[in-house]
Amino acid sequence: MVINVKDILENMNRVESRIDSACKRSGRDRQGVTLIAVSKTKPISMLMEAYDCGCRHFGENKVQELVEKYERMPKDIKWHMIGHLQRNKVKYIIDKAYLIHGVDSLKLAEEINKEAVKKNITAHILVEVNIAGEETKFGTSAKEAMELVQEISRLPSIRVEGLMTIAPYVENPEKNRVYFRSLYQLSVDISRKNIDNVNMNVLSMGMTGDYEVAVEEGATYVRVGTGIFGERHYETV
Ligand SMILES: *Cc1c(COP(=O)(O)O)cnc(C)c1O
Repeated sequence: MVINVKDILENMNRVESRIDSACKRSGRDRQGVTLIAVSKTKPISMLMEAYDCGCRHFGENKVQELVEKYERMPKDIKWHMIGHLQRNKVKYIIDKAYLIHGVDSLKLAEEINKEAVKKNITAHILVEVNIAGEETKFGTSAKEAMELVQEISRLPSIRVEGLMTIAPYVENPEKNRVYFRSLYQLSVDISRKNIDNVNMNVLSMGMTGDYEVAVEEGATYVRVGTGIFGERHYETV
């Protein structure tokens, strides 16, 4: 399937209006939800189409790809590192990523902190929770999340902004409602602890197949790739 310029505009409009409707259904303020266009494997020309539609939040899951696109695209874009981040690559994106979504260990957080100290910046991160307990997924367990957040909060150059999850792949998005609801509840439980340096204002959850349900359950960022840019073809990249 070839996606042309008109398709990206139409796709963006459709996703935006579905987010609107989900906000209305759940009595939420539309301003409280930000769409991240997940642009991994896609060429800059396609990202620029989304940019021209007003999109300023882009998500990438590979360090090198994020850095390349960062360098070649307008500087008012906010880049989200949504993939699993290896410790030895933190230094390349520390001052380029607006938000690092996939932090699931103290060791990774320590590395992020170290690089942030070097650059004299504060790194903004989300703790990734494997909310459905899937064996194949990264992320801390819901049980261990509280403790991990507490440990990370002691690192001076990191600010925990909230939680992120990748829900199971399902045909029927309703099946993920229970997981989105429990991530929301977990963030409420953590925020009640009033931990220094920890905010629970951000919930990054929902992808092409289930973002409307995620919005209904409190997502503040939805990460949509296929629904904007079409299918990804990894073999050609
Ligand atoms: C690829 C990816 C997405 C987007 O997935 P789609 O189903 O194409 O919308 C969202 N989040 C993460 C972490 C991803 O790796």
